[in-house]
Amino acid sequence: MSNDFGAGMRTWVNNLDTLGSDAMDSEGNVIPFDRSLIYPYAFRHSFAQRHADAGTPLDVLRDLMDHDDPKTTMGYYRVSLERKRKAVKTLSLMVADRHGTATPCSPTAYEQRSVGVPFGCCTEPTNVKAGGHACPIRFQCSGCGFYRPDPSYLPAIEDHANSLRADREKARAMDAAGFVIDNLTAQINSYEEVAATMRERMAALLKDDRAELEEAAAVLRRVRAGGDHKLLPLTVAAKNGA
Ligand code: SF4
Repeated sequence: MSNDFGAGMRTWVNNLDTLGSDAMDSEGNVIPFDRSLIYPYAFRHSFAQRHADAGTPLDVLRDLMDHDDPKTTMGYYRVSLERKRKAVKTLSLMVADRHGTATPCSPTAYEQRSVGVPFGCCTEPTNVKAGGHACPIRFQCSGCGFYRPDPSYLPAIEDHANSLRADREKARAMDAAGFVIDNLTAQINSYEEVAATMRERMAALLKDDRAELEEAAAVLRRVRAGGDHKLLPLTVAAKNGA
């Protein structure tokens, strides 16, 4: 995007006589939109957000945005409460334990009796109360009875298993004690078991159910990633003298 285009747009925006937001004040008057939030890139965010709110599937939106990686597309929008609730409902049925064995729960339990930790949900009460910052065993989740991953965590689980493998290589090169290597190996094996079992369960789903699950998983990953963007208004703008 050239600087000339940005400067031209700024001039155009500044010359608009009125520019209302989607919000109204207590007397029913349209609140002016903050013009500083209008710049060329903001249109891409608004485009993505409006599609996401309308339920456009992630892979379709990725194509519309001309992205290679859906993660890039996910950076362009935030998730509505309604979509998040639907995703939680879908994922709560696919919750597993540390072996990958199905332990479905209610959406309420998913949200209120667990906390998201890097590789899955945690149901250990002290840690839940502390918002996930008080793990008593240093986040060795794959060896913990309170670990409750679901498919939305699969990429994180597989990334973590890879980084544990890299750590194990470093430990070997450092001539680390056997118990260090053994601990890393046990964690790698456990995460592999969880991931493989979850992938098998997903593969056994009907095609439409699997697509719904993958969409829900993408939604929850987007929620965890956070981020917010101000939507550009859809209201009519008027130019001075027009
Ligand atoms: S190791 Fe157990 S207690 Fe700690 S965060 Fe993981 S699941 Fe929770």
